[in-house]
Amino acid sequence: MSKAIFWFRRDLRWEDNIALARACHDCESVFPIFIFDENILNKLDKSDHRVNFILQTIHRLNDKFPISVYFGKPIDVIEKIIKQHDVQQIYCNKDYEDYSLKRDSRVEKMLTKYQVKLHSFHDHLTHEPTSLTTLQGTPYKVYTPFKNKWLELTSNNMARIGEFKLKPKKMSQDLLKGCMKNPQLKDIGFTSASIPLPELDPKKMFKNFKPSINSYKDQRDLPSLDSTSKLSVHLRFGTISQRLMFRYLYENDLQGSTWASELIWREFFSYSLFHFPHSEKSEFNLKYTDIPWDKNTKNHKAFVTGQTGYPIIDAGIRELLGTGYMHNRVRMVVASFYTKNLLLDWRVGEKFFAKYLYDFDKTANVGNWQWASSTGCDAQPYFRVFNPESQALRFDKEAIYIKKWCPELRDLPAKLAISPYNIKPIDEALYDFKVGKNYPEPLVDLKGTRVRAIAHFSEYVSRKDALDHGSPKKKS
Ligand SMILES: Cc1cc2nc3c(=O)[nH]c(=O)nc-3n(C[C@H](O)[C@H](O)[C@H](O)COP(=O)(O)OP(=O)(O)OC[C@H]3O[C@@H](n4cnc5c(N)ncnc54)[C@H](O)[C@@H]3O)c2cc1C
Repeated sequence: MSKAIFWFRRDLRWEDNIALARACHDCESVFPIFIFDENILNKLDKSDHRVNFILQTIHRLNDKFPISVYFGKPIDVIEKIIKQHDVQQIYCNKDYEDYSLKRDSRVEKMLTKYQVKLHSFHDHLTHEPTSLTTLQGTPYKVYTPFKNKWLELTSNNMARIGEFKLKPKKMSQDLLKGCMKNPQLKDIGFTSASIPLPELDPKKMFKNFKPSINSYKDQRDLPSLDSTSKLSVHLRFGTISQRLMFRYLYENDLQGSTWASELIWREFFSYSLFHFPHSEKSEFNLKYTDIPWDKNTKNHKAFVTGQTGYPIIDAGIRELLGTGYMHNRVRMVVASFYTKNLLLDWRVGEKFFAKYLYDFDKTANVGNWQWASSTGCDAQPYFRVFNPESQALRFDKEAIYIKKWCPELRDLPAKLAISPYNIKPIDEALYDFKVGKNYPEPLVDLKGTRVRAIAHFSEYVSRKDALDHGSPKKKS
């Protein structure tokens, strides 16, 4: 009787899970496992909220079939399982991040000693990163042609978004030896987090969100509304299948919708980091490699504590610190402020987001930070610098979002809550409010820092061009 292990990683769901469905199809009995990876956990704060999210998700999954949960280095845990059990196959879904690719290749090599095969499947994205190329056979660097090709490939092969069902009878009802019984945070050295858990039922969320897909285009930029899906954390951990969403969009002729485009942006950034791994740590656009960034720790500190004196920025940071989430429009404005007005390094901003976001996904985070800092793949040009005040006037004109996260501005009229630094003495007395006392003074001057950023980028590019092409030779 052939026994298989199904190894959960960033695909924490029973439904529509390719590797799990294949394990059920190919083998007599399937034992699901999850490993709290010591290599990853050791780098996190001991109250990291994402660890709790994973644990609670596992408890939810356990209600249906038992999962054997372990803590340790995946290669050691798997070797131990192989030695203790008569397992012939291991199934998992591919994870394209650098660490995961290396981990899987080491595990695969170790397994050959025991004649056990690691079967890995493509599940996390609709198309394998290697299957989309330009006519010249090179990877796409621009989103729109990538998206067009993505839509063409999907329409030509709807099986790519088909459903993969498990066979309940093949799922083992037993736990494996040496696994943790009813694991709790303390068993893996963690404590509970101060950031609350998000909704844990992605199917319920998607059901509730469906009627909003048509209005998404007009409302998605308004941070005071609950008009986006909030499914990013579930896509990150695979608690919902991306195919389920695309199936729904295609069945309802919504594949051309703005929301579908956002899901394709997710695929684009994964694709981009896979093909251009240098961009994880270095500027994607070689024109900006090694562009100098400011190292002003005072500015960084004011930013990460939500004390910049610019309400839309501070509201965004406080939303992030309080919930592990930040609205997309605000993420864009905040990242632009950090890298342009403060001229601080996008890598440091990216790391800060990585620590707090529930939906932190290296591919999307790096891609978007580089987009905002103008150094990335299909990024906005360097001379586009979001003005936080005009962005707030446009997208939070009643200051509802600002007042929610900056309660010290609650009693001011909306216009003043957006730019409290414009308050007149007569209003200071009226509202008993003073910048510098009730709310921080603006950290930097918006106009001056905008001009400085544009000049900085422009001078760097000109200098680099001159160096790359060499200065014209003088005639003797
Ligand atoms: C500086 C910055 C950092 C970001 N970091 C992350 C990150 O670490 N993880 C992450 O999932 N998203 C990141 N995003 C993208 C985006 O902000 C979030 O995906 C979105 O806000 C999540 O909310 P939602 O689920 O309601 O999205 P919706 O608006 O409902 O969109 C649906 C889904 O599409 C995907 N998506 C939407 N916008 C983007 C985008 N710009 N790039 C990639 N995928 C997108 C997400 O999976 C999202 O859940 C970042 C954006 C910026 C500007």
